[in-house]
Amino acid sequence: MADLGNFTNTSEILKKYQFRMQKKYGQNFLIDANILQKIVEAAQVMKEDCVLEIGPGIGTMTQYLAEAAGQVIAVEIDGGLIPILEDTLSSYHNVTILCEDILKVDLAALSEKNGGRPMKVVANLPYYITTPIIMALFESHVPLASITVMVQNEVAARMQTGPGTKDYGALSLAVQYYAKPEIVARVPASCFLPRPNVDSAVVRLLRYEKPPVDAVDEAFLFAVIRASFNQRRKTLANGLANAGGLGLTRGQVEEALQEMGLSKTVRGETLTLERFSELSNRLLRVGK
Ligand code: SAM
Repeated sequence: MADLGNFTNTSEILKKYQFRMQKKYGQNFLIDANILQKIVEAAQVMKEDCVLEIGPGIGTMTQYLAEAAGQVIAVEIDGGLIPILEDTLSSYHNVTILCEDILKVDLAALSEKNGGRPMKVVANLPYYITTPIIMALFESHVPLASITVMVQNEVAARMQTGPGTKDYGALSLAVQYYAKPEIVARVPASCFLPRPNVDSAVVRLLRYEKPPVDAVDEAFLFAVIRASFNQRRKTLANGLANAGGLGLTRGQVEEALQEMGLSKTVRGETLTLERFSELSNRLLRVGK
């Protein structure tokens, strides 16, 4: 039975194994059973599902997932947590624990083991690498039905926002290209041990079957987006012309902007995903 989602049982396990939390791995363990229940419900985990959990910690959420899903693959970087996980998950026979860095895991191979069927990702993400993990999941192109993750409030805001706000950037555009983001719960810092400095939110990303815009070359679109926000204080034309990898001249960028009816001094943060897609399609033609 899932029994770790409270302060007493979590502290006992940490004490039993004399485990010292590692700040460098973003270890903030959930100690609120209501929130854990909410996450698993929001992810709509069913018996036929294979769930990929990133960062199981001491196995708190893994227990809930193992009870709801057919199969759980839990990827944990910290070798010190593996003996704890083997203990707390010993009564579940549908959990595979992998001691690896999620950014180095061959996601395609994991997906193949699941017969290529879409997996569901559920995680209380380590905050120091939230964005690289989300990007790696999308860019891997492995079939994922949904991604339900705990992130800092500020990151949740970045995922949802549109042009013209301070939070708008490469993450907003990437998330909205691949999925529909929805905040399903707000989570105060008091629900974690140790308490983080900020509040969090659970976000569900429902993967689109087809992206909402028609980019001829998806990798090029993302290279353009990244270059546009790398130098936020610069104009779009400067940012793109300075990005060596794109091979574009300032003149080519300015011409494309002009053809789109945009000013030479426009900034990336004012462009919608549709406009970025249009711009990247035009630049692809002139750059080659
Ligand atoms: N799931 C647990 C919970 O909710 O209580 C722990 C969540 S804690 C915020 C993040 C977890 O991710 C930690 O267990 C940490 O060791 C693990 N982690 C950090 N970086 C990782 C990486 N690159 N690959 C896999 N796991 C990682």
